[in-house]
Amino acid sequence: MIAPGKTIGILGGGQLGRMTGQAARELGYGFVVYEPGANCPAGQVADAEINAAYDNEEALARFADSVDVVTYEFENVNVKALNFLKERKPIFPNPNVLRICQNREREKTFLKESGFPHAPFAVIESADDLEDALATIGKPAVLKTADFGYDGKGQLKIEADSTESAADIWGRFDGQRAILEGWMEFDLEVSVIVAISANGEVSAFPVAENIHTNHILDFSIVPARIDKELSREAVELATAIARKLDVVGLIGVELFVLKNGSIAVNEMAPRPHNSGHYTMDACITSQFEQFTRAVCGLPLGSPRLRSPVTMVNILGDAWQEGDPAFAELLEGGAKLHLYGKTEPRVGRKMGHFNVLADTAEEAFATAKSLKAAL
Ligand code: AMP
Repeated sequence: MIAPGKTIGILGGGQLGRMTGQAARELGYGFVVYEPGANCPAGQVADAEINAAYDNEEALARFADSVDVVTYEFENVNVKALNFLKERKPIFPNPNVLRICQNREREKTFLKESGFPHAPFAVIESADDLEDALATIGKPAVLKTADFGYDGKGQLKIEADSTESAADIWGRFDGQRAILEGWMEFDLEVSVIVAISANGEVSAFPVAENIHTNHILDFSIVPARIDKELSREAVELATAIARKLDVVGLIGVELFVLKNGSIAVNEMAPRPHNSGHYTMDACITSQFEQFTRAVCGLPLGSPRLRSPVTMVNILGDAWQEGDPAFAELLEGGAKLHLYGKTEPRVGRKMGHFNVLADTAEEAFATAKSLKAAL
């Protein structure tokens, strides 16, 4: 066990790191951030911030020397850096988990080999591969770069009536290795965040129902409006994935609820997840506290939902006509969380708010009207 009073080091200085740092401090831990860009959201709440590239071994060694355990909040860290750190300090989740989850080809291959349900897919390295895959998988389909994808980046949907040739579509992908995925006809998207502590304890948070706009998470509604049996299945599937990957820490598993009533995995992220921000105000233990407990080997906290809730992301778009209507938001009962970012660019996640109510429907309705008033 890494006892309170010790220091947690985190790779990546975004809002996930910031909220982890805030939770870690409440438990009495020190907190050091490693992040290439200065003045990052997590750095503002850290004891120290090391600004250096992820392949700077001198800086990584200095980081390792200043902490007792290492974790990460960002997926596009080179696994080499993690392996370098692993020689010096315990690192959770283990680097292999990141290696799998940071690349769609490895992620989908892992799901396939483990027998977990997922979209049909094929690896694409050329226009010929794409032509063959479109013939077997069919349209609509979505072409995704294998590396560095999140929030819909590096994705191209190929519509059912598309007449563009495979060569032309592939030409738009700059020859980057990709995967073609069959389009999943889903009713809704849900996610489950599972924690496994270094002491072996396992715990899952309630299932969130997620609504995306322009590929970015817009609302998370909890409890998800699905039946109990499906909810249990989603938790079981996410937990089986976490165990199979031997995760210590957190993993967020995004799932499609298909029109035929079954579920399939979309993707996994081995860190706190945007769709888990509702836990900060609605659960006995937040995902950030749970993450801290897990990587430090402490007993896990109760994930029990205290109240139905809707989480809303606040993007930089809300600043386009001056400051957002924060007073109205707070008067309306929302719990506001801002990340300390000073440049409100369109599409940039600046903060989120949680609305609690007696039912999920009521929380969602209030959340929508407060968002519209922002
Ligand atoms: P991703 O970045 O892969 O999570 O994709 C972002 C969003 O695009 C997902 O949350 C879905 O709404 C949608 N999407 C991605 N892949 C598929 C698919 N194979 N079928 C249907 N929708 C998809």
